[in-house]
Amino acid sequence: MSHQGADDERLQETLASIGKKFVVLSGKGGVGKSTVAVNLAAGLAHAGKKTGLLDTDLHGPSVPKMLGLESFLTSGDETHLTPAVLLDGRLKVMSVQFLLQNLHDSVIWRGPLKHAVISQFIGHTVWGELDYLIIDSPPGTGDEPLSVAQTAKPDGAIIVTTPQEVATFDVRKSIDFCTKLSLPVIGIIENMSGFCCPHCGKETAIFSSGGGKRMADELHIPFLGTIPIIPDVVRESDAGRTISGDDSPLQEAFTAILGKITG
Ligand code: ADP
Repeated sequence: MSHQGADDERLQETLASIGKKFVVLSGKGGVGKSTVAVNLAAGLAHAGKKTGLLDTDLHGPSVPKMLGLESFLTSGDETHLTPAVLLDGRLKVMSVQFLLQNLHDSVIWRGPLKHAVISQFIGHTVWGELDYLIIDSPPGTGDEPLSVAQTAKPDGAIIVTTPQEVATFDVRKSIDFCTKLSLPVIGIIENMSGFCCPHCGKETAIFSSGGGKRMADELHIPFLGTIPIIPDVVRESDAGRTISGDDSPLQEAFTAILGKITG
């Protein structure tokens, strides 16, 4: 069998042992897409589901840092990549960062090579049986989300936005991308939606709020929920403690969202 044929066969075998696959998309960077991907995966794993988290951001992978896995290196051979294992084996994580020897190496792969890497990541990672695979994709509608959509054939896309980004065309572009690829949109999450002052309890809509819901209604797409600005999120994620425990600050906001996704 050709190399390509063997790769394809391996990919199909791997996909067959994964229950549901969701890709997390956003129109642009910095809206909290990786934070959402990590917390969705952690929430599923905390709920007892066997979960995989795949970081396909080849240029700026942030998942390893959020999980304190910057120095993890994958073992195994070319076709059997060992993921990092967290939460008593319920959460398996794979990132391009795990293949790089030097933490600060930057990745300069071009389009066709990127497609091959993403396809190998999905197919060659030793995930075992998974209930869910959450795929964090780079922002926008470029090579990586396209490769993910074509290779992993996700069951659906979860789109993350911030209230002020809703006013732009970026989210609509992501939705259009899904429509063109026949990728069902599971729904929209509005992140950084309002800030509750820890001192006086007063809520302030720093970036305004409610735009995500309005847009979802307008486009007839499910609205999955809002996540407020939580100062601890930045501190904990910079310290690699995104999923330190069930009481992590975001888990509460994610419980309702997860109910809608898995329900
Ligand atoms: P993206 O993947 O869209 O580029 P990230 O998930 O890396 O965005 O988040 C960008 C920054 O915003 C990070 O420093 C992250 O900790 C912070 N952040 C994300 N969501 C929240 C939130 N709800 N409250 C406070 N900070 C947040």
